[in-house]
Amino acid sequence: MDYTEGKGWHDARIVPYGPMAVDPSAMALHYGQAIFEGLKAYRTANGEILLFRPEKNMQRVNNSNRLLCIPEINVDDCVQAIKELVKVDAYWIPSAPGTSLYIRPFIFASEPALGVRPAHSYQFVIILSPVGAYYKEGINPVKIYVESNYVRAVRGGLGEAKTVANYAASLKAQVEAKEQGYTQVLWLDGVEKKYVEEVGTMNVFFKINGEVVTPALTGTILPGITRMSTIELLKKAGVPVSERKITIQEIYDAHAAGKLEEAFGTGTAAVISPIGEFSWNGNVIKVNDGKIGEVSQRVYDTITGIQSGELEDTFGWIQKL
Ligand code: PMP
Repeated sequence: MDYTEGKGWHDARIVPYGPMAVDPSAMALHYGQAIFEGLKAYRTANGEILLFRPEKNMQRVNNSNRLLCIPEINVDDCVQAIKELVKVDAYWIPSAPGTSLYIRPFIFASEPALGVRPAHSYQFVIILSPVGAYYKEGINPVKIYVESNYVRAVRGGLGEAKTVANYAASLKAQVEAKEQGYTQVLWLDGVEKKYVEEVGTMNVFFKINGEVVTPALTGTILPGITRMSTIELLKKAGVPVSERKITIQEIYDAHAAGKLEEAFGTGTAAVISPIGEFSWNGNVIKVNDGKIGEVSQRVYDTITGIQSGELEDTFGWIQKL
């Protein structure tokens, strides 16, 4: 679908996958005016195809668009477009447990122009790709490096947008953490390097002394849809959960006092990724003996059960094709 100033979004179409013509002066290539999304389509045991809260992804597109000065999209039309597209490629959705069809919508400034200002024309593209099960050999807790050198986002910046530059800003830290044997980095706030923000491509939760805590949305972290769903389901299950500022020192102290019971990341890719260990300025913070915790397992089972159609969706999260 294209956007032209004065005409709005127009010419939605489905075409075979292949290289796209992009002008060498397309503004996105020079000034980073581009956003994207990630969601999945699932096939149930009886062959139905489901989407998990696609309207939340399309609302997040508009949140990202507002921050990047990109014209907003119509949420309902775009959810419908995703459904139509998935129908065309439905035969690609594997039926093995945990497999899905990954959906990657993205918008970029296509106007050919040199000069820093919002573009007058854009393209909105959606590509699809079948993905295997994230956990093929059982859920394995990951090792996380607490990043105190590089910064992903600062207050007043673009941290809460799903924009390409945030991922560019994370690459060097990610490479260095991987070289040292860590799976991802845990970002701290960009000013005091004290408050916990999020993990590479996941939001982060801790269970401390019976209470589940996750960093509040203060504009610097991505408002994850799995994060939102986790909070909703824990509240419904009567598990105390709070969104607030939390320092890495508090995590360390809880660990030292034997009160850090669980830590996990949430995101579309893995749903839940238990964290078995953090490394922070040379301190090792071990969590739950490197095993998945009870709350992490419960959230994982509930969300994946709803996505696979095995559990009744009492939340209204699922949209069928
Ligand atoms: N934070 C970042 C930076 C991410 O890229 C993602 C993945 N989209 C998340 C958090 C988790 O968001 P969601 O649950 O919507 O996948």
